[in-house]
Amino acid sequence: MNLKEIKEFLKGADDKLLFSQGESIREKYFGKEVYLRGIVEFSNVCKEKCLYCGLRCSNRELKRYRLTFDEILEAVELVRKSRLGTVVLQSGNDPSYTTEFIESIIREIKKRYGNSIAITLSLGERDYDELKRWRDAGADRYLLKVETFDKKLYEKMRPGRKLSERLKLIEYLMKLGYEVGSGIIVDLPEMTDEILANDLLELSSLGLHMIASGPFIPHNKTPLYEYPSGDLKRSLRAIALLRILNKYSNIPSTSAMASLSKDARIRGLIVGANVIMPSLTPLRVRKLYNIYPGKNESDSSALEDVEKIKNLISSSGFIPSESIGNYKGGN
Ligand code: SAM
Ligand code: SF4
Repeated sequence: MNLKEIKEFLKGADDKLLFSQGESIREKYFGKEVYLRGIVEFSNVCKEKCLYCGLRCSNRELKRYRLTFDEILEAVELVRKSRLGTVVLQSGNDPSYTTEFIESIIREIKKRYGNSIAITLSLGERDYDELKRWRDAGADRYLLKVETFDKKLYEKMRPGRKLSERLKLIEYLMKLGYEVGSGIIVDLPEMTDEILANDLLELSSLGLHMIASGPFIPHNKTPLYEYPSGDLKRSLRAIALLRILNKYSNIPSTSAMASLSKDARIRGLIVGANVIMPSLTPLRVRKLYNIYPGKNESDSSALEDVEKIKNLISSSGFIPSESIGNYKGGN
């Protein structure tokens, strides 16, 4: 598919065809199986100022938290108890978690659970040597969304950061042998159809193992509070297009989708996604990981939340999988 065709589909030229193609490719490669990744959001401290994100350091009204070594391991134990095959350790860009700390967490998780749990790291941009050490310690995957490939928009949305550095890190992560995930935010303010179409093509050219595209959700404590949320239909079109362009990649139906409407996550699965990532962050701090409104708002325990998500998946005709959910394609 070329840029022009993608742009037409994004405009809604033929949703019936697009969604049915996304669905049949997802059926062919994944069937009804939905991989579950338990996210442990261990710190909401961040030194960056991304214009779109509620965790940006300039949001002084947000109460900050950091989980200890033992608290992180307790949350990982819940991932295990819920029989999820992957733990995603995610945080703001918080350098107070040292190379050694993260290395010890990885080693401890692997010591306790061996390869029955895959470890995904999502810690933002870190140094090359630490990414290598964590890979050597046993981390399996790294998630670093590029957000957009449009240099001007990227550098406006992420003040002080360079698109070229983000891309180099993604390339390095690949070289280290991580399964690498990246992605974009659909309908970021000032994102045109041209930019979004190009983002989908660029993402699909990287050979990524995981690709996420969730809608922009405005947060009232950010400079983008007056912009509208990403469009549900365009977010679904982006998922279907990604599935068509990346047959084997794991594609989540994100929690940002769920913020748009109750049934959006399931609709994302139908048109091409095959992954859901429930939060297993301790209830005591979960609401403070407030990237955007609607995220982590449940008052139930982590175990209850996972059960609810599994029930939702089953009642929608899908199968919640206990598999570790590795990338199915070749390298
Ligand atoms: N700090 C790490 C990073 O930036 O890679 C990981 C955590 S960050 C909160 C995870 C993702 O949240 C980002 O990659 C971004 O795509 C997404 N995000 C942040 N603010 C958002 C918003 N307002 N709407 C949709 N997605 C958002
Ligand atoms: Fe920090 Fe990540 Fe939010 Fe940017 S998106 S402010 S790096 S937590």
